[in-house]
Amino acid sequence: MKRINSVNVEVTNMTVEQETKVLDASEMMLDFFKSDFFYDKIHDTDFSKLRGASINCISRKFHFHTSVIYNLFMTGQEEWNGVLDYEIDLKITRYSRFWSKVKGYIIPMKPEIFVNSRYFDSGTPFSIGSNAAHEWSHTLGFRHSGDYLRESLPYLINDWWEEYWKYRTTIFIEPNNYKTVCKRIWWTFWIKKVCKRVVKENIYEI
Ligand SMILES: [Zn+2]
Repeated sequence: MKRINSVNVEVTNMTVEQETKVLDASEMMLDFFKSDFFYDKIHDTDFSKLRGASINCISRKFHFHTSVIYNLFMTGQEEWNGVLDYEIDLKITRYSRFWSKVKGYIIPMKPEIFVNSRYFDSGTPFSIGSNAAHEWSHTLGFRHSGDYLRESLPYLINDWWEEYWKYRTTIFIEPNNYKTVCKRIWWTFWIKKVCKRVVKENIYEI
């Protein structure tokens, strides 16, 4: 089966340096989601037993079928666009609310992922990627609520993310080096302060 193969990145209210962190996080996300590791994790999960899944979580609509759930991730069919584009659509808007402990949020059926500068600015591609992967799963339709938040797909993704990168010695989790080591091809165009780029697979050499 065809797997997810690119990330469409659009950032708002970010410096070039912050945008670079998002792009590196995007590459990590692509690597993570198209991996056999992720395939196995989804297929080994009993979604009917996750107590943190909301009543309107898309896993219920799919009757907890792991292959259908996996397929949703691979086609990149976000709720707000419904297109099978095999692409992770990542529209990240940075906002500042220093008194708030909210790291990020989405509005259901809308494309934007909002990230709080309080956490985002000091984040690494590793931590930003973990949050973005969590939020992206929300845009696919996975929801959590109640007392067992960790028992929901978005939070499982954070756990899997830790596990996936733990034993990989990678350029990405070395925040000081990642900029210079990667070789990339970008498709770039600018609209005011919003930047759009597409991260394709197999575009870096290690
Ligand atoms: Zn969440």
